[in-house]
Amino acid sequence: MNIETGQVHKFPKRFSGEEPAAILELNQDSQFQVVGNVRYALTAQRFDTDLLVRGILEVDVRSRCARCGERCAQTIRDEDFVRSYPLSTANELINLTADIREAILLALPMNYVCSSACRGLCVKCGANLNKTSCKCGRIRQETPWGMLDQVKIERK
Ligand SMILES: [Zn+2]
Ligand SMILES: [Zn+2]
Repeated sequence: MNIETGQVHKFPKRFSGEEPAAILELNQDSQFQVVGNVRYALTAQRFDTDLLVRGILEVDVRSRCARCGERCAQTIRDEDFVRSYPLSTANELINLTADIREAILLALPMNYVCSSACRGLCVKCGANLNKTSCKCGRIRQETPWGMLDQVKIERK
């Protein structure tokens, strides 16, 4: 994505549109699969020596939930994209593609979950606890209290 500096003045100018997913350069074995294009809604504004660009970047991705293992889609958003580019007196073309790529890659979550409420898999039987409940749950819940009781006994 390019901005021609000669087009931008003191009053903020809006740039919105889409870039192909290929700009992210995610390889085949990435855990993230990009769905559709990278979307941007930016404003550029000229200051004395800099061009300030800020706005929102968005992309839809599919990946596997770290808790339940289901593949699910999510919109990844960077709402605070801000970059400043030094201005010369000449009319220049500033290429933002590398900065957009970097911002999106940083916004990809380390711990991708289908929902913050995802209950994950049962560690004992592997049941997907979002879809079904299993009988192991009761045992798991009792364990911390059981250990607490033992501690109390030792203190007596
Ligand atoms: Zn999940
Ligand atoms: Zn279970």
